[in-house]
Amino acid sequence: MKKNKFAVKALAAASLIAALLAGGSAVAAQAADEPLIGLTFDDGPSPQRTAFVLDVLKQKGVKATFFLQGSNAQQYPDLVRRIKAEGHVIGNHSWDHANFPELSQSNQKQQIDRTNSAISAVTGEKPTLMRFPFGNSTSYALNYIKSIGMTGGILWRWHIGQPGDFECPGAAGVQRYVLSEAAPGAIILLHDAEDVLACPSSQWTYLASSIDALRARGYEFGVVAPSATANPLNEGSPAVVVAPAGG
Ligand SMILES: [Zn+2]
Repeated sequence: MKKNKFAVKALAAASLIAALLAGGSAVAAQAADEPLIGLTFDDGPSPQRTAFVLDVLKQKGVKATFFLQGSNAQQYPDLVRRIKAEGHVIGNHSWDHANFPELSQSNQKQQIDRTNSAISAVTGEKPTLMRFPFGNSTSYALNYIKSIGMTGGILWRWHIGQPGDFECPGAAGVQRYVLSEAAPGAIILLHDAEDVLACPSSQWTYLASSIDALRARGYEFGVVAPSATANPLNEGSPAVVVAPAGG
């Protein structure tokens, strides 16, 4: 095992040197060694906030994961297109934020299918990740998503339980929440629609400052990907945070 590890390190060093010699992606090669945090934005897209979030992520060179409501995806296809074009991952967050345990099986299926259709109509790709509204899944829905090749429910790290962005704690409060839940491989729950739209717009400066603060602590940013095993760090989510495609 140790020998393998050394071989991998040597390989990484060699490719870093090769990248440096080529004047290419030395930064990307280095970033692969840093612990990853997965920022996730739920409930959108919304005309009020999604473009702002995308602008900040672009300025900071961060890729994230967006769990979209199908009804919003259908209404704001240009924002869905932009999320996809800028290299973020798109997941399914139901059609209209229904609480699955209260729905009939056929309505649960419809919430999932309609959303996949609305997203793939714009992006050409069916989402593979499912995050249930309120984190509330049912055994029917979990079996159904598995049967159509999806993974979920994707939860998030909720270790400390500081007020989240949807509770309007202000910019410093959201940053405190983000930093308190930060850990290598943590999935962080944030929003770009619904409840957060009622928060003062001054709260939104948290995003740029939290990204800077996480980088100062040595983190880089990844996207959520399916995993065969439940991750205890993120409340048992069958998911991992991975480096974005293309570095
Ligand atoms: Zn939600």
